[in-house]
Amino acid sequence: MAAQRKDGGNRDADRLRLAEPMARHTSWRVGGAADTWFRPANRADLLAFIAQLDPGVPAYWIGLGSNLLVRDGGVRGVVIAVQDALGDVEDLGQGRIRAGAGLACTILARYCVRKQLGPAEFFAGIPGTVGGALAMNAGAFGGETWQQVESVEVVSREGIVRRRFPADYKVAYRHVIGPRDEWFLGADFLFTENYATSMDRLKALVDERRAKQPLGLPSCGSVFRNPPGDYAARLIEAAGLKGYASGGAVVSEKHANFIINAGDASAADIESLITHVQNTVKAQFGVELVPEVHIIGEPAEARDEA
Ligand SMILES: Cc1cc2nc3c(=O)[nH]c(=O)nc-3n(C[C@H](O)[C@H](O)[C@H](O)COP(=O)(O)OP(=O)(O)OC[C@H]3O[C@@H](n4cnc5c(N)ncnc54)[C@H](O)[C@@H]3O)c2cc1C
Repeated sequence: MAAQRKDGGNRDADRLRLAEPMARHTSWRVGGAADTWFRPANRADLLAFIAQLDPGVPAYWIGLGSNLLVRDGGVRGVVIAVQDALGDVEDLGQGRIRAGAGLACTILARYCVRKQLGPAEFFAGIPGTVGGALAMNAGAFGGETWQQVESVEVVSREGIVRRRFPADYKVAYRHVIGPRDEWFLGADFLFTENYATSMDRLKALVDERRAKQPLGLPSCGSVFRNPPGDYAARLIEAAGLKGYASGGAVVSEKHANFIINAGDASAADIESLITHVQNTVKAQFGVELVPEVHIIGEPAEARDEA
């Protein structure tokens, strides 16, 4: 079922597309077509779209697609991409920074460093948006998104905008549970003022990262959460899986918790490699690896049968 705007839908090539390949919008460069893909021009456009969206149509929000595996059969419903509409950042004073959900984390990191606010350098290690970082409790270099959150602004499926606070969420390592059917419009972060930081330090952290991870190749970063007291990469390497391939998907030789699209991978290749890694690590070490990446959409067969 294709998502339709109740007003009949205006096919604006930039804002609203039908049958949009999600491979264009995910860092793994895989994924079938979304029935409808909406990239609002601004906040008002976004809120107007949500208010008129048929409640029966499934809706998914994405940031930069850097933690998302979209299956080959694509997404039934509408995918809302907010990086343009909600990309603002504002200094509220006294260490408070208001950032829109579409703002790139790397921009937030540099903005804070220039203002001597911190800890915020860790945002430079996250190639996604503020909204994605809130949804994932993304973190790097020992810092985590929700450690700095004072409040968030959210919108419900019905289009109601409200402010919420960390106590409204169950926040854990790379995992956040909040009220159902709500999305992040942005967050107010609280940082320490006169924080000892610099662009050089930020660059050094990113360079250190580049030396250890296959950053130039299509991936989703770490595929699995680290199990308590251990590292997923250590277990995958110890299981002898570095370089193991399923179709065009390969366990990285450089960092075993990365799965690389070597050029022609399908989402099914990546998903079957995820399962293979889980089964092998479970069989050898008795540890259940839990994916950090979010998987959405339908397998290719479902699309073919539709
Ligand atoms: C090379 C590489 C390195 C990485 N390194 C790290 C790292 O060091 N640490 C780390 O934590 N992650 C890392 N990641 C993973 C990823 O960048 C983070 O999880 C990031 O927070 C995802 O943001 P995004 O905007 O791309 O979200 P997406 O991938 O677009 O979406 C991820 C999830 O968030 C939801 N979502 C997105 N926006 C919103 C919103 N506004 N409201 C509600 N839900 C929303 C989506 O529906 C989806 O379920 C890495 C990824 C890559 C490719």
